[in-house]
Amino acid sequence: MDKVVSLAKRRGFIYPSSEIYGGIAGFWDYGPLGTELKRNIKNEWWKSMVQRRTDVVGLDASIIMNPQVWKASGHVESFSDPLVECKLCHKRFRADKKEEVKEHAKKEHPDVKVEWTEPRAFNLLVKTELGVVEDKKLEAYLRGEITQGVFVNFKNVLDSNRVKIPFGIAQIGKAFRNEITPGNFTYRSREFEQMELEFFIAPDETEGVKWFEYWKKTRLDWYLSLGMNKVHLRYRDHADDEKAHYAKHATDIEYHAPFGWSEFEGIHHRGDWDLTRHKLSYKNDEGKEFVPWVIETSGGVDRSTLFFLLDAYFEDGKRVVLKLHPKLAPYKAAVFPLVANKEELVDVARKIYDNVREEYMVAWDDRGNIGKRYASQDEIGTPSCVTVDYQTLDDQTVTIRDRDTAEQKRIPIDGVLSEIRNQQL
Ligand code: ATP
Repeated sequence: MDKVVSLAKRRGFIYPSSEIYGGIAGFWDYGPLGTELKRNIKNEWWKSMVQRRTDVVGLDASIIMNPQVWKASGHVESFSDPLVECKLCHKRFRADKKEEVKEHAKKEHPDVKVEWTEPRAFNLLVKTELGVVEDKKLEAYLRGEITQGVFVNFKNVLDSNRVKIPFGIAQIGKAFRNEITPGNFTYRSREFEQMELEFFIAPDETEGVKWFEYWKKTRLDWYLSLGMNKVHLRYRDHADDEKAHYAKHATDIEYHAPFGWSEFEGIHHRGDWDLTRHKLSYKNDEGKEFVPWVIETSGGVDRSTLFFLLDAYFEDGKRVVLKLHPKLAPYKAAVFPLVANKEELVDVARKIYDNVREEYMVAWDDRGNIGKRYASQDEIGTPSCVTVDYQTLDDQTVTIRDRDTAEQKRIPIDGVLSEIRNQQL
């Protein structure tokens, strides 16, 4: 974990937010490479969940909504973690995180017996105020989950699109929670991004089981298709007493992180909870009106980004390699002229670079020896390095080096783009 955190900072994947002012707990900024990685994850998600499906449409709802939404959804009354407070230093911890509670007592107050308050509910919604006149301000919430934006637009989508049950509405966007104990790098943040699908089905037990199982498998398969190691993934069904207020059934997809098995996507059978609370329904072709059930897949973009990074990190002798799937890699290739002060080499390399750049993110490096340039690209997960050398000037070929095997082959300049395209399939 420490190595990945340090690599993330050093190479520009993830920085602490507002670091020059001492940072702020639970907030992170994505640097140039982190932005690409996160964008690639979201694009792949969108392709598989919306673009390539005929039964899902997209949505981009606002972050601040009428506060009534959060009352109707049940979040104002029950979106909370039970907390215990250390009576000595008043630090608060989640009551269900027994290890953290023990650790605090041992580390901070080793010589005394720590007393704790009874667990109390703590609302996680982040409040804000709208309006210019001091005493007329409207209290609002930053959305605690992106889900509700979909439900409140259910009727709009039905009226403006030809969708029929079963169908889904997908969305990617920011959510905010006043997490008490942000930590484990970006894993528990106060501002984070979610990628979610709300899939509306007929209110029927058999349909419910069928779609719940379908989405469980589809979502896990997606992580596998982007190269996550199967042994690092598992399902964990929620016990009855830990289910959210809306859930009929719930399963987490967990990753075997250095800090233990950790949820990063939830598949929830929400039943008719939300649409009923918002007084919404659906009329089928025969004119029968009913409240659909909802199967939700709710993934964290930041947690996925972190786990894709952890999963891709390898040390091979002295070499550090991020074996990111080529579809996720920030740069798809790097182009090098063998030496920087040979104009003929630089010209040819520039042309290749400009050509590939039209389609893909490509890195350019003309500094230092070639071995160091390879190492630098390996560390950020660039799948291919293309080098223009003296032979290129004679026969119009370049070397292309593979990140994972470190093997090189010569290919014609004309073949560079198709070689990179093939990796993206
Ligand atoms: P946890 O028990 O870890 O707090 P949760 O069960 O409350 O998570 P959900 O409400 O199901 O999480 O949210 C769905 C997804 O959103 C999670 O699987 C996770 O990927 C992401 N997520 C939730 N809270 C955070 C957070 N504080 N920081 C980063 N991602 C988060």
